[in-house]
Amino acid sequence: MNEPHPDLPIQPAWKTQDLVDFLSQDKSPTICFYGGEPLLEIKIIQEIMDQIDAEHYSLQTNGLLLNKLPTEYLTRFSTILVSIDGNEETTDVNRGKGTYKKLLTNIKDIRSRGFTGDLVARMAISETSEIYKDVVYLIENTELTFDHVHWQLDVEWDHGIETRWDNFPEWMLKYNEGISHLTDYWRANLDRGKIKGMVPFLVIYRHILNDTSTDLPCEAGLRSFAIRTDGKITFCPLPPEYEFSVVGDIKKNNPKELENAIGVGKTCLECEVYSLCGGRCLFAEKTKLWGEKGFDLVCGTVKHLIEELQFIKPRVDTLIQKGIVKREDFDYPEYNNTTEIIP
Ligand code: SF4
Repeated sequence: MNEPHPDLPIQPAWKTQDLVDFLSQDKSPTICFYGGEPLLEIKIIQEIMDQIDAEHYSLQTNGLLLNKLPTEYLTRFSTILVSIDGNEETTDVNRGKGTYKKLLTNIKDIRSRGFTGDLVARMAISETSEIYKDVVYLIENTELTFDHVHWQLDVEWDHGIETRWDNFPEWMLKYNEGISHLTDYWRANLDRGKIKGMVPFLVIYRHILNDTSTDLPCEAGLRSFAIRTDGKITFCPLPPEYEFSVVGDIKKNNPKELENAIGVGKTCLECEVYSLCGGRCLFAEKTKLWGEKGFDLVCGTVKHLIEELQFIKPRVDTLIQKGIVKREDFDYPEYNNTTEIIP
């Protein structure tokens, strides 16, 4: 999905000044560098950070070049999201031998150089993942020092449920079971006054507790956009064959006129958990590459997660009343840090 596409230039065909001009009408922009691998272009990152005083900078990276990012820029990031899938074995199977050790070294390096922002483990969940084991490993690992763990199911990106999954329906049952165990783990920690930084849990809970609802939590197409290397603006970083994702152009539009350019469709708006899910993934809902049946199966995982979290609400209410945890503890994220929220 994030490999360079032959139809797009590898490097931005626009100038940093074009971005400066585009964002001049946004008083508090939040900029995330993503790829491919953004740290292959550290000079461009530096140039943009030299010229734009964004309210927040985020970085989605495979982490392997973090040691090359100069400290004066590193410490300006509010959030760094590092791709990692669990322990050494799981991560190396997915991302190549030696990846885990390199990540560990680089994470220690950025912490020692003064990075105090939000360090987020960004997991891709595939058929080899064991959600309970992998999430707890990353949360509890004191060497990795992740503040938060987010995960996204590697689903609905390809044409058909069986393209890369041997048996998604069966795997899904195990995943749901793992989510139930994770809920128990999360609640047991709340009992001790500890808020474990599991992003989907925190954000869904914030809405459960405050009785608020969410539109697409990643804000794709609402208030969050991707700028392609050819200058076209899309609602999400998608390959160019999905031309429907183009909503503007860096040289022709301004951020204000792009707001709410595209929204979720009927399937989500009519869904019984829409107020807490918000539509999981706009791309998936627009394309339904796994068909209605596949789409519904993935939604089943969201519904299970929400159900489990709603089930423990009386307990959490009691903990808040007793002052063991505070309502504000669930206020995450404070800004769009590019976590998709719903796995
Ligand atoms: S569970 Fe599925 S249908 Fe319901 S809001 Fe979420 S993505 Fe849309």
